[in-house]
Amino acid sequence: MPDFQKNIDSILEEVKNSSAIGTVASYIPELATVSSAKFGIHLIDANQQTYAAGDANEAFSVQSISKVLTLSMALGILGEEIWKRVDVEPSGDPFNHLSLLEQENGIPRNPFINAGAIVISDILVTQLKNPKEDFLNYVRKLADDSTISYNESVAISEKETGFKNYAAANLLKSYGNLNNKVEDVLDFYFHQCSLSMSCKQLCDTFYLYMNRGKCKRNTSYLTINQIKRINALMLTCGFYDEAGEFAFEVGLPGKSGVGGGIVALLPNKFCITTWSPGLNKKGNSARGMQALERLTTMTELSIF
Ligand code: GLU
Repeated sequence: MPDFQKNIDSILEEVKNSSAIGTVASYIPELATVSSAKFGIHLIDANQQTYAAGDANEAFSVQSISKVLTLSMALGILGEEIWKRVDVEPSGDPFNHLSLLEQENGIPRNPFINAGAIVISDILVTQLKNPKEDFLNYVRKLADDSTISYNESVAISEKETGFKNYAAANLLKSYGNLNNKVEDVLDFYFHQCSLSMSCKQLCDTFYLYMNRGKCKRNTSYLTINQIKRINALMLTCGFYDEAGEFAFEVGLPGKSGVGGGIVALLPNKFCITTWSPGLNKKGNSARGMQALERLTTMTELSIF
């Protein structure tokens, strides 16, 4: 195995001096309050050795990264049934695009665009007794960390400004692909996106996607086949309309969020999270992508 700490330290130096820092998301006003100077990186390997640099322990808004976790919970409860309501194809469109949803009769392209994630939220609102509480407990269990919580200010901020998500949910409802009330499903969705976690906590949570469905305590949450499907979706749909570029530059399955986080993993080898709030034009963390490109180039470790 390469010297991960050495690699990470040198990536931090390189990326800190990079001029392509990106722009912090402001369409959710609360996200705009975060400094673009932040940069954190954390890596956990298959033996649970950890390596970190920068702001790796500072919590940030995970946003769309949460979509992997809700998908996992829904898949764990309902199994293959969920694919009747959401497809598994890359969209090639921005995460909040609505025109495809109309063209394809209310079946979202994949569970990581907003419309698809809202369908998954609807499934969980139906299936769970106390949806917000039960989902939070699920994430805490995966991470083995009871301190993880929602950021209410971020959830409220998005509730007040998430007009496109209301549009998507209403469109889904009009096609019969939303069973609960729009307000209830979006309240859950805005909370899942507001999860506040550090790079370390995200690595602890995503450890199971690298470890064939078993979390750090060796409890099995997903089958090997379910992990195969989720990792495939992360590779093909995890980076908005830049999934091809991410596969090309980095070569790992992963998921990004507009809070500036990126989680990526190499099955059976390692899981890594970067956080840098400045986003590129496609909505992915600019310095996070650079850092991950450097890591897989330096170590020659990627799925290809
Ligand atoms: N909560 C955000 C939204 O729905 C998630 C966006 C993202 O991280 O991709 O707009």
